[in-house]
Amino acid sequence: MGGSRTATRFGRCAHNLLTYVALPIVLALAGCGSSGNQTAGFTQSSVFAHMVGDGDWPMRGRSFDGAWFSPLSDINTRNIKQLGLAWEFSDFVVRGRTHRGVEASPVLVDGVLYFSGPWGVAYAVDARTGKHIWTFDSEADGQYARNACCDAVSRGVVVHDGKVYVASLDGYLFALNAKTGEKLWKVDTFYDRHWNYSITGAPVMAGHNILIGNGGGEMGTRGYVSAYDADSGKLAWRFWAVPGDPKAGPDEGPEVTLARKTWPQDTPWNLGLGGNAWDSMAYDPDTNTAYLGLGNGDPHPQWLRSESGEVRNNLFLTSIVAVDANTGRLKWYYQTTPDDSWDYDATQPMVLADLEIAGRLRKVIMQAPKNGFFYVLDRVTGELLSAKPYTKVNWADGVDMKTGRPGLTRQADYRHGPRIVFPSMAGGHAWQPMAFSPRTGLVYLPVYEAPMRIESKKSVRFMPGTINQGSLMQLPPFEKAELPAQMKGEPQPKLESRLKAWDPVTQTARWVSAPLPFVSSGTLVAGDLVFQGSTNGYLYAYDAQNGHLLRKLFVGTAMLAPPITYRLDGVQYVALLAGMGGPQGTFWAPDVVARAYENYERLLVFKLGGGAIPLPPRRKADVVEPVPARIAATPATLARGRSLFEVNCQRCHWMGGASSNYPNLWNMPPEIHAQFNAVVSGGAFRYAGMANFSDVLSRADVEAIHAFIVDDTIAKRRDGADAGAHSNLTAH
Ligand code: CA
Repeated sequence: MGGSRTATRFGRCAHNLLTYVALPIVLALAGCGSSGNQTAGFTQSSVFAHMVGDGDWPMRGRSFDGAWFSPLSDINTRNIKQLGLAWEFSDFVVRGRTHRGVEASPVLVDGVLYFSGPWGVAYAVDARTGKHIWTFDSEADGQYARNACCDAVSRGVVVHDGKVYVASLDGYLFALNAKTGEKLWKVDTFYDRHWNYSITGAPVMAGHNILIGNGGGEMGTRGYVSAYDADSGKLAWRFWAVPGDPKAGPDEGPEVTLARKTWPQDTPWNLGLGGNAWDSMAYDPDTNTAYLGLGNGDPHPQWLRSESGEVRNNLFLTSIVAVDANTGRLKWYYQTTPDDSWDYDATQPMVLADLEIAGRLRKVIMQAPKNGFFYVLDRVTGELLSAKPYTKVNWADGVDMKTGRPGLTRQADYRHGPRIVFPSMAGGHAWQPMAFSPRTGLVYLPVYEAPMRIESKKSVRFMPGTINQGSLMQLPPFEKAELPAQMKGEPQPKLESRLKAWDPVTQTARWVSAPLPFVSSGTLVAGDLVFQGSTNGYLYAYDAQNGHLLRKLFVGTAMLAPPITYRLDGVQYVALLAGMGGPQGTFWAPDVVARAYENYERLLVFKLGGGAIPLPPRRKADVVEPVPARIAATPATLARGRSLFEVNCQRCHWMGGASSNYPNLWNMPPEIHAQFNAVVSGGAFRYAGMANFSDVLSRADVEAIHAFIVDDTIAKRRDGADAGAHSNLTAH
């Protein structure tokens, strides 16, 4: 595992690392870097936090446990009222006029904050002052915005041994000189670019390898994780989430052969089938084990993943997979949703902890995947220890502790007609990291309680550069006619989230926050404070013990990523990146602050006694562009234009127009109408992420789309916003 390298990285705590394996947990915790004020008698531990100095935050989640926990308590329940802004950095690379979601959290190494922004651009700033040190922009190909289901985001960097590792949206992994930002090496992580891959996830350090996955679980891709030697960039191994076409060659390894037994003979291999590791991975240095969180099946309906409609388990979709970090060989796997048809990725951030369960101290791995169950597994053996719903679930009636399988309900089966299913495709919990405090033994989990309406397509064929998910999905509100039949008179479900303090031993909520906007950020637990931001522009601080809201700070910008905390020169800081986008950037819900204030990318850093937080400029009312001149087109052409719009355009540009990160095509200025074809087929705005569609749209197709938008714009201007085409179908 490269102990000496890790020891260098953790400096003065190295002795703990070297002796940790041999020491009982309790002794190890008493060592360097452990929290000095733990509650007496607590039995849970944050297992690797002792490797990190109290004031440090050297990796995503702060330590290998991924707990987003810091023992710092200079900022605490008594003085949180004094928290103010220390400094702000907002000099991000912005392409064209389209700001993108910010989903990364910084890491702190040697007084420098390193982080990534949209497109996988890496930044280094002085952690005391915010002074810019360097920016590394690989100028990722804007065409790849088409491959990203949910915005050109990036969730962070790894810093190790004087190098910064970052992945670009278009699939390259870079090693940079941490001092200068200079490129040391670059590798192409995509083995075949005909499929619709992208990268939005952060690399992860595991032993001496840098792991990186890819996105595309709705797009038509074969998911995998690659491991590269941290020094040389040489490919060490690849773990395939699903088998490939047997005609293309022999299985890449025994894991692929094992997985192949769980797929029907008539699987349409050319669809890719998904399983993408687009976000979460973890590493246990004690056992040199890497944990890979794998994504949903693609197409979504399981019955479309074979020509005959035969269904099987389809390994390793929606699984947590444990592999040897040096070789990539399988140690164990646990499949959370064996019959996945609901986009129930198991890519949500995983936390490693040691918990006392039924009188035994267990080394566990915890995950709250999209499917709504909170899983506690033995991280050494993969044994299922418990699984209970942390939000409303109606697709399964529980998890069988003998087989580990969920019991499917009739409500889950949408093969013969649309169903309303809890949780939605956004999940009971999305990519936003959950925090775990060894002081309270609680997980601080951002929870959605919302259903989706899901409908199966009859068939699916691979299309380049677009959604290939074989399902139609919709968030509330639903058509009134369908709701009573399936929800037995229940009220229209709300789109909101809650912060839940979840006891992973008893599998119950200790406390639950007041309702929050549908999308709120990941969480940080620092001492006895829990921090969470939200898309309404507020940063909240709660008492970790009882959930009392102690402070809310208005920053004027939506927050998606979790905060971090660190201490330098005796000053504790709380830092987070802000900026609206991601899947919800297509349509800003009424409570999204970007409706009132200009949205842009920001790094905000707070301290006690800090100053007022400058708000972004107030958003001005949109200029109402002139009504465009009608484009002569038959009803059939307009209908074709609408259909092509639905397939190609609406996952960014909301049907009928909306406040969003992207241009409102129902309010285009005359000069854009004039060059519509140059934009769609000529790639005029490719750099900004408006990709070239000439590979899938003919000149006549583009004209049909344009005629439809113009016709519908005229109808809406004449008859009001409710006239004409509408959409609230969303894909994730
Ligand atoms: Ca997905």
